[in-house]
Amino acid sequence: MKVAGVDLAGSPTRPTGFCILDMGLYAKTKLLYKDEEIVNEILAVKPTIVSIDAPLALPRGRCCLKDDCQCRKAGHLRECDKVLLKLKIKFFPLTLGPMRKLTLRGINLTKILSQKGFKVIESFPNSIKIILGFPGKKEGLEKLRKALIDYGIKGDINKKKITEHELDAILSALVGKLYLEGKAVEIGDPDEALMVIPNPKIYNYLKGNLI
Ligand SMILES: [Zn+2]
Repeated sequence: MKVAGVDLAGSPTRPTGFCILDMGLYAKTKLLYKDEEIVNEILAVKPTIVSIDAPLALPRGRCCLKDDCQCRKAGHLRECDKVLLKLKIKFFPLTLGPMRKLTLRGINLTKILSQKGFKVIESFPNSIKIILGFPGKKEGLEKLRKALIDYGIKGDINKKKITEHELDAILSALVGKLYLEGKAVEIGDPDEALMVIPNPKIYNYLKGNLI
């Protein structure tokens, strides 16, 4: 079994981090740009699951992310986002500036991949960093890279010049792997949007009392 992790950029002109992770934690990473490139890589590998770091569904009651649409009154947060707040995991709401483009791109990519028969999950690397206790952004990329090596990630994690996007793609893929192993949970409302995060109970995060 293999898992694909995608740290999706809001625009195809900016780099998207891509990772293929096997169950032995061997990671292959690269940067991709267009949707077509991402889809072709996934078609070539046929992963069991595709884990995408981007919002993949709108809040219930919203038909779009336009400010002048009536649906705006349905708000900014999905149930899964509210669970993140309870877990004290920070994120940018999907209605915020550049997050809108990312969200629409994520929804479209999910549609393409689902039509091709792939199981797609929404992930959020910050959740895995916090729940598993990996170093945050402020501590620098090298610390995160070393922490992932200590965790057991092999392969391209050893590239000295690995980018932030590839590291996030590895984290995304790792959430997918934990999901396949039953060590992750889906949060949110299944009729709206589900996000997959490492199970806080298993990792003793906040004593796992909040969900
Ligand atoms: Zn609308």
